[in-house]
Amino acid sequence: MIAVLIGGRRYESSDPALFTAAYRAGEQAARTGEDTDAYIRALYAQGEHAAIAGYLHGLAAAARQQLTEHPVDCPCHACVADRRALTRHLHRVWRRAAA
Ligand SMILES: [Zn+2]
Repeated sequence: MIAVLIGGRRYESSDPALFTAAYRAGEQAARTGEDTDAYIRALYAQGEHAAIAGYLHGLAAAARQQLTEHPVDCPCHACVADRRALTRHLHRVWRRAAA
């Protein structure tokens, strides 16, 4: 296995050139909404495991880029629950320190 660095992340592959090309193809496919399942099935049929890994990581990277960051005062349910949990946690720490 050889280390491959793409987009600030480190991957391992037996075939870095193939991995990188497939990674770029995956990134591109995620943006354009191509039929990624069919492509992955074709790679499996050919036994191109380095390409499959690269392609999947490329898809994941594109998905990560599409996630929007939640602002500190985000009103969505998950963020509100997170802030409540954090407040409770801080209270527990504070009470323990004050006792
Ligand atoms: Zn949020």
